[in-house]
Amino acid sequence: MSASVVIVGSLNMDMVSHSTRLPAPGETLVGHDFVMAPGGKGGNQAVAAARLGASVAFVSRVGTRQHGKALLQALRDEGIDTSGSTVDAAALPGIAVIMVASVGGENSIVYVPGSNAELSPADVQASRALLHAAKVVVAQLEVPMPAIAEAFALARAAGVTTVLNAAPALAVSDELLALSDWLVVNETEAEQMSGEPDPLAAAQALLKRGPKQVLVTLGAQGALLVTNEGSQTVAAAAVKAVDTVGAGDTFVGGLATGLAEGMSAIAAVRLGQSAAAIAVSRSGVQSAMPRRADLA
Ligand code: ADP
Repeated sequence: MSASVVIVGSLNMDMVSHSTRLPAPGETLVGHDFVMAPGGKGGNQAVAAARLGASVAFVSRVGTRQHGKALLQALRDEGIDTSGSTVDAAALPGIAVIMVASVGGENSIVYVPGSNAELSPADVQASRALLHAAKVVVAQLEVPMPAIAEAFALARAAGVTTVLNAAPALAVSDELLALSDWLVVNETEAEQMSGEPDPLAAAQALLKRGPKQVLVTLGAQGALLVTNEGSQTVAAAAVKAVDTVGAGDTFVGGLATGLAEGMSAIAAVRLGQSAAAIAVSRSGVQSAMPRRADLA
């Protein structure tokens, strides 16, 4: 079995408590809600693409202590192939402990990367058949860069399109950027990676470092696509935003789906934008991601 979109990335369990305010150090507060939901940029993007109709495989390293089995099962429930994920029974999966203040909306987060930080080039090599058979390979920066570089080198050798979503903002080598057909960043990441506050100047500086196209997402303003041929802004749909967490992940899942279907760059960007616009109009992250039929 082969998948058109292969995501190389992280899987986390998000544990979110809601209280009126955040506790002070040493304080115990009584909260009023709690949600445990699968997350991680890799898992989110895989779910976004699967909901939009792509056949998706997930390459990762998943500790099955604590909640790891539930994380893998949640992907399978979305029809995602997890055969390329290395299961490590002794390791802790990625976990994010998130406290949200319902008044003011502030949050505090402790993220424990767990097994995400252990994904190795050898783990990726074991999935080379999946990578070679894909149309698009996508990675984010919540797993180690040597593993991403291995995946992109294998993909390149087979003529597969590579998409690097450089989130969270970390220093990325020119070698990895040169292996990336697409570099996708939000405005903050673009500025942190390039030192340029202006998104167009940032994208142009990043383009010089090797990717074939740079896409900067601009929230409600849409996205800016920059290639050697020029730049183009693609406006976002006007929606009432309820919860923008995970907008970027939904966008990347949609972009990958469009590219895997053979769409033009702009059409694939529009698919990602349409999906993200629906996701921000609903609360939740994976639970807010639309199905293809939900798109107008
Ligand atoms: P991130 O979640 O990484 O910060 P952005 O906030 O830039 O990413 O959002 C990614 C994409 O989601 C945007 O390019 C846009 O298509 C869509 N989006 C985000 N916020 C809105 C919004 N308020 N209205 C419509 N679309 C949005």
